[in-house]
Amino acid sequence: MTERRLPEGLRPETLAVREAVARSQWGEHSEALYLTSSFVQSDSESAARRFANEEPGYTYTRSANPTVASFERRLAALEGTECAVATSTGMSAILLMALTVLQSGDHVVASQSMFGSTLKLLGSEMTRFGVETTFVSQTDVQAWKDAIRPNTRLLFAETPTNPLTDLCDIAALAALAHERGILLAVDNSFSSPVLQRPAQLGADIVVYSGTKILEGQGRVMAGAVCGTEALVDKVMGTFMRSAGLNLSPFNAWVVLKGLETLALRVRAQSAAALELAQWLQQHPRVARVHYPGLASHPQHALAMRQQSGMGGAVVAFDVAGGDAAERRANAFHVIDRTRVCSITANLGDVKTTITHPASTSHGRLSEEQRQAAGIGQGLVRLSVGLEHIEDLKADLARGLDTLA
Ligand SMILES: *Cc1c(COP(=O)(O)O)cnc(C)c1O
Repeated sequence: MTERRLPEGLRPETLAVREAVARSQWGEHSEALYLTSSFVQSDSESAARRFANEEPGYTYTRSANPTVASFERRLAALEGTECAVATSTGMSAILLMALTVLQSGDHVVASQSMFGSTLKLLGSEMTRFGVETTFVSQTDVQAWKDAIRPNTRLLFAETPTNPLTDLCDIAALAALAHERGILLAVDNSFSSPVLQRPAQLGADIVVYSGTKILEGQGRVMAGAVCGTEALVDKVMGTFMRSAGLNLSPFNAWVVLKGLETLALRVRAQSAAALELAQWLQQHPRVARVHYPGLASHPQHALAMRQQSGMGGAVVAFDVAGGDAAERRANAFHVIDRTRVCSITANLGDVKTTITHPASTSHGRLSEEQRQAAGIGQGLVRLSVGLEHIEDLKADLARGLDTLA
């Protein structure tokens, strides 16, 4: 079938549903799912050329797969980067970056409030390979600057952070990194390209857990690294063919279709999160609400500038109470009285999730570490989905209005 090529300059909403549709000879309207581990070659000569990379064409899914390639091209188009490489999970995206950008003797400066497994990967696993990481306060650009050493190769930020929604100033960190010839990577899993496109603000590498809001419906795990052709395609792509951190074609297809509704979901979830945050803020049993969309957030101005005027889907709040034990009991009461929200740690889903960070995602920290991180026993985290806002308020009111 002859393809009518897309015109240049299309906007993100159009790219999200139109970019990288590679139709087969059958002319299917929806993207085909190429669920195959290998590809048949027409003859030995052409097989030899393809395996030698002298001729384009698919050979084996660990090297490349059309469905995975569609996801990579569409994500890169939305992110505004030259290319993207898909990985099996968010953690394998971060591992891919670490194993290709870093080598023994290198030093990394990273935010101390990154995703728990990222802290573990950089803070302990990678030390066995001679890579050292200094963790700093994500909000304090001077702390990042002070931590830089002559062998620092990478700054790695995640913004906003989970669960307290602290921000990193991406443009400021990019300027700091580039003054010294250091790379800046940003984990954009929370925000998606709808809220912020870190590469447009100067980041060299954007990493994703596609499991979260990109996929949006809690079905599959996925990850990706976005950046330049020289780094992502040539260096990481080549490494991938040997390392096998690949995304399965089925999962790629699910996330690819998730990208089609991404902008609608992010805007609706962000608007609902703002309304819920405002409602929580005036509730007498809520001590404090953490949400970048609220004027009371310490980095509200930066958030509005950096995140397209939106706060995102994640809202955290401290339930009031006397001592730590009472605040914990109160938080549990609020969580356990919900009947609509799912009690689970996942986020970005169209179903609202509710969790108690101090006893789950941050349960392995010592009480002092938790206090330093600002994660109290009364803290509850919501990732707001697409339910009707009044049903969500009623779900939270059921517990908040019945506290002793
Ligand atoms: C979930 C998450 C990850 C890890 O992604 P997986 O897909 O679970 O491996 C990394 N970074 C952030 C910010 C996340 O929320």
